[in-house]
Amino acid sequence: MTIPLVDLRKQYAPLKDEILAGISRVLDGMQLFLGENVQALEKEFAEFCGVRYGIGVSDGTNALQLILRAMDIGPGDEVITVSHTFIATAEAILLAGARPVFVDIDPQTLLMDVSQIEAKITPRTKAIMPVHLYGQTVDMDPLLEIASRYGLRVIEDACQAHGAEYHGRKAGSLGDAAAFSFYYSKNLGAYGEGGFVTTNDPELYRRVRMIRDHGSERRYYHDLLGFNARLDEIQAVVLRAKLPHLAEYNRLRREHARMYNELLAGLPVQTPVECPQNQHIYHMYVVKVPRRDELQAYLKEKGIGTGIHYPVPIHLQNSMAALGYQSGDFPVTERVAGEILSLPMFAELEDPQIEDIVNALGEFFRR
Ligand SMILES: *Cc1c(COP(=O)(O)O)cnc(C)c1O
Repeated sequence: MTIPLVDLRKQYAPLKDEILAGISRVLDGMQLFLGENVQALEKEFAEFCGVRYGIGVSDGTNALQLILRAMDIGPGDEVITVSHTFIATAEAILLAGARPVFVDIDPQTLLMDVSQIEAKITPRTKAIMPVHLYGQTVDMDPLLEIASRYGLRVIEDACQAHGAEYHGRKAGSLGDAAAFSFYYSKNLGAYGEGGFVTTNDPELYRRVRMIRDHGSERRYYHDLLGFNARLDEIQAVVLRAKLPHLAEYNRLRREHARMYNELLAGLPVQTPVECPQNQHIYHMYVVKVPRRDELQAYLKEKGIGTGIHYPVPIHLQNSMAALGYQSGDFPVTERVAGEILSLPMFAELEDPQIEDIVNALGEFFRR
């Protein structure tokens, strides 16, 4: 048996002809950046998210950084976020010149514990960056209430949440702006690098667009300090071919999650907690288990791929040492890092595969 954590080949097969034809048209025309496919994707994905404006960019990390720069958040400023996320969340804040300030997570959802935000607000705080980790949105209503009371901007890290919903509203439409990643294994993935910014704010839209292309609106006239964070046409072709299927991919992921939840009941496995106001899109299906490392090795031997997202909290990473955090600062984040395990999850996963995976977990715990 071989079941990878993510299998992207099955998704490609039915789209192959359309994607190759689209790429061929791009190469025939040799308009390789910010052309008709990027422009169309900007409309289509903004519409999918329920926002007015969308900007195709080079990747998710730069999407976050572009938003921060467009908001003039930089040296001397603080941004409140979590340590239990992919490193890029904190990197983007530091690359913009600002300082990430962490709060702990909720032990059930593994998402930002919104009740801890207020205590971390200082005169330097400029924004809150909730991370919709694994495909489930942070509890945004109380977060937005705090942000509005203190005059803070809200930047969603929606890099794992393409299509996730909160009270029927899509991730990417819940704050002042949001960053998406089209890294190949995300729920909507390119065949190279890609990212996206969503917002309803026309001025922010204008500034992000400029900064992504060297701060210019008119070629060789540079009104803002920018850099290169453009999306290319070939990636836009791939993304446009997949976007019409994204809702169905997410629906299938949710079905797989329901099946996992049912079959895993009775084992010493804590299945993911989905809040009633949320539509989780299971970018990752993450369980908490005892003897995690032993179990992961056992599953590997059986041919089952798993992952740990993420094994080392950001505040304990070597690259973040200058922030001055210590072990013990975020007890829930630190504890769950040793318990979490991501099981295989992708739209094309098959029921018998889920049964095999759960059987292997059962064997391990019965040994
Ligand atoms: C993937 C990801 C990013 C970064 O996206 P890239 O496209 O890889 O730069 C940022 N934040 C989170 C939570 C992610 O999962």
